[in-house]
Amino acid sequence: MSRIASVLLPMPLPEAFDYAEPEGMGLSVGDQVAAPLGPRLLRGVVVELREAAGGNRKLKAVDRRLDEPPLPPNTLQFVQWAARYAVDAPGQSLAIALRGARAPKAKPVRVVRLTGVQPARATPARTKVLEAAAGQTLSAADLARAAGVSSGVVKGLVDEGVLEVLEVAAEAACDAPDLSLPGSELNPSQAAAAGLLNEMVDEPGFNVALLDGVTGSGKTEVYLEAAAHALARDPDAQVLILLPEIALTQAVIARVTTRFGAQPGEWHSGVAPPARRRVWEAVAAGRCRIVVGARSALFLPFTRLQLIIVDEEHDGSFKQEEGFIYHARDLAVVRGKIEQASVILASATPSLETLRNAETGRYRWLRLSARHGTAQLPEIQLVDLRATPPESQRWLSPPLIAAMHETLAKGEQTLLFLNRRGYAPLVLCKACGERMTAPDTDSWLVEHRYSGRLVCHLTGFSMPKPERCPHCGAADSLVSIGPGVERVEEEARQLFPEARVAVFSSDTVFDAREAKRLVESMAEGEIDILVATQAAAKGHNFPKLTLVGVVDADLGLRGGDLRAAERTFQLLAQATGRAGRRDRPGKALLQTYAPEHAVMQALQAQDRDAFVAAEMEERELAKLPPFGRLAAVIASGPDAAQLEAFMREMAQAAPNAEGVEVYGPADAPLSLVRGRRRKRFLVRADRGVDLSAYMSAWRARVKPPAAIRVAIDVDPYSFL
Ligand code: ADP
Repeated sequence: MSRIASVLLPMPLPEAFDYAEPEGMGLSVGDQVAAPLGPRLLRGVVVELREAAGGNRKLKAVDRRLDEPPLPPNTLQFVQWAARYAVDAPGQSLAIALRGARAPKAKPVRVVRLTGVQPARATPARTKVLEAAAGQTLSAADLARAAGVSSGVVKGLVDEGVLEVLEVAAEAACDAPDLSLPGSELNPSQAAAAGLLNEMVDEPGFNVALLDGVTGSGKTEVYLEAAAHALARDPDAQVLILLPEIALTQAVIARVTTRFGAQPGEWHSGVAPPARRRVWEAVAAGRCRIVVGARSALFLPFTRLQLIIVDEEHDGSFKQEEGFIYHARDLAVVRGKIEQASVILASATPSLETLRNAETGRYRWLRLSARHGTAQLPEIQLVDLRATPPESQRWLSPPLIAAMHETLAKGEQTLLFLNRRGYAPLVLCKACGERMTAPDTDSWLVEHRYSGRLVCHLTGFSMPKPERCPHCGAADSLVSIGPGVERVEEEARQLFPEARVAVFSSDTVFDAREAKRLVESMAEGEIDILVATQAAAKGHNFPKLTLVGVVDADLGLRGGDLRAAERTFQLLAQATGRAGRRDRPGKALLQTYAPEHAVMQALQAQDRDAFVAAEMEERELAKLPPFGRLAAVIASGPDAAQLEAFMREMAQAAPNAEGVEVYGPADAPLSLVRGRRRKRFLVRADRGVDLSAYMSAWRARVKPPAAIRVAIDVDPYSFL
């Protein structure tokens, strides 16, 4: 009897399509196939095979099985689970899982090697080439460089048959870890935590632990030991380390490489497509045993994933906000469950969700309360900007400037932290009051002096800064309001002309390599004052950094959304946690207009537990996460009246359910983006409610007009 193959295609379709399996193709679930859709052949994955009930419909046939690694069953299950959770098409999550498989293959590399034929004529340059080539295969260019000769010399030797050209496969994606290398000698509390993690790894089945340790306590050292243990106890085990930022992956890759004498697989958007393809294939073949990556690494085709580590688990960057919307920390726990693996969530400032799971015993809770060795946590002072304001059009207050002078005099480093890119967040016309915004979008244009442009951080729109106000035409009337990192850098250079000042933000540091270089030069002490956004505030260890100045501690509190206080506390605790490593005591100064605010008080007292307790109480009263669940619907369309009508229809279609409240529709705070109006619903549900099922049922009851887009965000982090 013939069989029917359900094939999922990596595109936004509601379900898998049925195809006939041609005689003798012998498909298995997980196989990558080419299947026809309309006039095209598309890559898809077999998600189900069943016997055909006999001649009821005429199905198109699968064209062929691709000569590519299949998706392992657990990966496939994860892809489908993630789509159901996110209330999105399974083809969307499949597209993420196939990203590496669809990337172009690396071309083979051409190398040269000695044939044994002697050159007809020996010259000093030729002798150098023969010496450099002995026992090696190098590219012709590398060989010329190694021998210190021109490429013509090498080419001449190839033409004579002294060297031959071979094509070899591009280098392997990841090397085998050397498990005989010793780890750092752990201090007693680290050793205790590592011991408990190893026990967890040894236990069969799924388990989660929160590794909760102050900045500099050695969480990385501890989880690397757990990784070593997982790799050593099972020769096929794979370990995934997830990081929230590309800049951080570089630091962790360096530490993994030192610890295991081998490069791990690297996975994030900055990795070139052919290299991604190699990592994907090596993971699918079980050859790649350690992957360090950003959130989408969670969708790699692991064959035997035994341990997932989510470092800086509280970080909002784990939330993917566009396209397929998901939170990588939450999905890491799901993947762990599907794989029956262990999961370690590490942070100095865990999310309230994770802390709640630790408090109720769902997660094991390991605490490291002191820094490693003699290092002390920094002293934290609040600078009341009402009492000691900066000069007009300046952003650094006299107490902070004085502390910077002292730090510089001691030959130590300062980090000025401001979570705002560019030069100034707002440009306005002092003649007519016009605020510069992007066309068709109601968000301000940010001035960037490095590029000389005004940039919309939301849509990417940019334009040169005009000479005249586009509204009233006045000349030289545009003024920059407020500071971004570039403006603080300018102020630091003026105040400290003798100091070496650098700036670190995603506009000035473009890629992972550049980030690594800047982090290294900071670590080497080649920079005196680093002005940085959160790109540099996390995770790094700078031995000579003893002063952290937070330029605008109130910034994150102004948004006022659910997590504003939590996020501000986490970010500032991380930023101030950069100060004072090893034997140098550190200090952090927080510039604020609200020193009495609970967040500032908790930061100063370094009393995270008190802050968490107060915040938990508020959330519990309001039945908000982690005591309830949220989801958002964001609809957008070009026509205000049409959108309005659709939202009314949607409001009416909302299913009635116990323990669920629907708020809205309301204008989104960003009510116009790229010419599209935006409106939102917010849904709150009790913890026991299957909110994904609710949202999915609601979504199915309405059919939006073609011009209207509807996105569902389960557990929203952005409320814009
Ligand atoms: P965390 O991840 O908790 O911020 P790290 O693991 O980065 O802490 O450790 C902070 C610094 O202390 C790093 O430079 C690390 O190499 C060092 N360190 C921590 N524990 C040890 C140890 N047991 N032996 C040697 N150095 C350590």
